[in-house]
Amino acid sequence: MLQRTRAYVLRSVAFGETSRISTVFSYEYGKFSLIAKGYRTPSSACARALEPFREIELVYYHRPDRELQIASQAEVIAWHPGIEERLDRFGYASAVLELCDRLLPTDEPSPDLYEALADTFEVLGQVSRARAALVFRGFQARACAIVGFLPSLEACAVCEGAVPAQRLFSATAGGFVCRSCASSQRSAIEITPEAAGLFRFVLRASAAEVARAHTPMIRAAQVELAGFIERFLVAHVEGYRGLRSLTMLGEANKRARARQLEHARSGEGR
Ligand SMILES: [Zn+2]
Repeated sequence: MLQRTRAYVLRSVAFGETSRISTVFSYEYGKFSLIAKGYRTPSSACARALEPFREIELVYYHRPDRELQIASQAEVIAWHPGIEERLDRFGYASAVLELCDRLLPTDEPSPDLYEALADTFEVLGQVSRARAALVFRGFQARACAIVGFLPSLEACAVCEGAVPAQRLFSATAGGFVCRSCASSQRSAIEITPEAAGLFRFVLRASAAEVARAHTPMIRAAQVELAGFIERFLVAHVEGYRGLRSLTMLGEANKRARARQLEHARSGEGR
């Protein structure tokens, strides 16, 4: 049966000489894999559309008993060229796709996560360098909420008592904990009110709101936020050990800084 859906490509691998297997996240049918034949033939518009960071309209042959569907046509309907213009945007957009791949089960639609992904790409295509990381963390926090691991914010995640200061976070308990429960939670960590406030903000704001918010963004709070969202995912998503895209972005930034330093030094020496 021919089916039509909007989708984003999560990842692709070459298959044989001319084909490519892509895993896509579709609005109507969730995550599934399909093969695009004739990928390297220049005439294949379908194959050219199956690239990351583009929203595509996909037509494919669907058979429920088959693990790999067959692509028939694909056309780009939304493209955010700004994502590929800069390393930070590219790195965080790759991390968004990688996270969706990790969180989504096969063949289960998640329209809310799809919309969050579309909004985030729209913003990542033009976000300032200073805000790219926070826009990504916002997506990560909302993705956790959408797939059903909403961290407890208003009450202690263990006893449901009050957590007035919101200073203790337990990834394994699933959110903020009160002081007496924290003593029984080995993973409980102390976090600053700034990081807790930032977490609440990104969880509720849209990607566009995160990108243009006027609240002072303290760098230390962002680092803390990143740390406890990652812990949360490690505790709740089987096999999660961080995102490869973020590791690669970190290494690329390190190399770029080293080059800058070298450049500055060689400038001084002259
Ligand atoms: Zn408690």
